[in-house]
Amino acid sequence: MICWYCGKDRFRRSHFQLKDILWLLVLRYPVRCSFCHKRAYTNIFRAQAIRRAQLERRRKREQKKDEADR
Ligand SMILES: [Zn+2]
Repeated sequence: MICWYCGKDRFRRSHFQLKDILWLLVLRYPVRCSFCHKRAYTNIFRAQAIRRAQLERRRKREQKKDEADR
């Protein structure tokens, strides 16, 4: 998925708002561009993949931090 506004492809899941329920009914989930912070909707399965990538990045970061603490 490419951002409509800035052309970058890094997104994170956006906070879920009440109005997003309508989008969820058509299998869309809100995401936010990591670069220009514009809100967009993507396929819910892609949003899940984004979430997994997000957790993976966090896990790696914490692992690195743990190693630095030792
Ligand atoms: Zn963007």
